[in-house]
Amino acid sequence: MRKKLCAAVLLLSAWCLAARAEDATPSKTVKVADKDRIELWTGKTVLVFTPHPDDDTFLCGGTMKLLTQNGNRVIIVIYTNDNKGSLDLEMTRERLAVIRRAEEEAACQVLGIPKENLVWLGYEDGDLEYANPQRLRGEACRLIKKYRPDAVFTIDPGDEFNRWHKTDHRMAAMVTKDAFIAAEWHLYYPQHLLDEGLKPSPVPVAYYYYTTSPNYLVDITSVVEDKVKASNKHVSQFSPSLDKYTPEMSEETYQFLRKECLKEAKDGDKYVERFRREVLP
Ligand SMILES: [Zn+2]
Repeated sequence: MRKKLCAAVLLLSAWCLAARAEDATPSKTVKVADKDRIELWTGKTVLVFTPHPDDDTFLCGGTMKLLTQNGNRVIIVIYTNDNKGSLDLEMTRERLAVIRRAEEEAACQVLGIPKENLVWLGYEDGDLEYANPQRLRGEACRLIKKYRPDAVFTIDPGDEFNRWHKTDHRMAAMVTKDAFIAAEWHLYYPQHLLDEGLKPSPVPVAYYYYTTSPNYLVDITSVVEDKVKASNKHVSQFSPSLDKYTPEMSEETYQFLRKECLKEAKDGDKYVERFRREVLP
């Protein structure tokens, strides 16, 4: 088996090294009262913005599982259809979009998120930065007003990622953060109120993933095997399916990826996911 991982995982590994260096300083982790710890919430709504139908699983899958287990509603907004990332020369964009959608639905099912809670914005893979930014921000803003989330998860819009992150990730990070502001003021997209009755909805707190400066760790030890299972539903993101598509994953590949996933999440005697938490003014 070729030991090649998908681009997201390779980037994650690079990020991880930086993140662990940050983690070495305990003062980097913010103190949060139990009532505000998202992994202890019940009955809340959490909105997750993801550029591709796999970043959410790889970076937040354990936290999503804890949230659904505790009776919270999790909505995933997927900006692109991820229809270009295949090395299989017989693959087409149309077919890949269908595969990636089914894989995301299967992964979310493991995490307790029904497919009705997935919102597909349908942008072309790799082209998000070339979409109309005002329209894109309006779509994100509308969804915030519609679902009125208690917290939003998205890619860290901090300046560090610009040095290494790829195109759809940059745009998803920026446009989602800009939508927080637009969602507070009804005059940004007045048609949301006039046509659909959607009132302004400030985002109280954001959790940024793919961050180089994590300040909040979620202990996912109790659900880490669910995260592994969900991550491995993204079969076409990994070799050998990445090179020549097959819907099946061999036991050998599964175990290799499981090991990588556990290694990435390991933090002392626990498994964690790392975020930068920001309470919004
Ligand atoms: Zn991605």
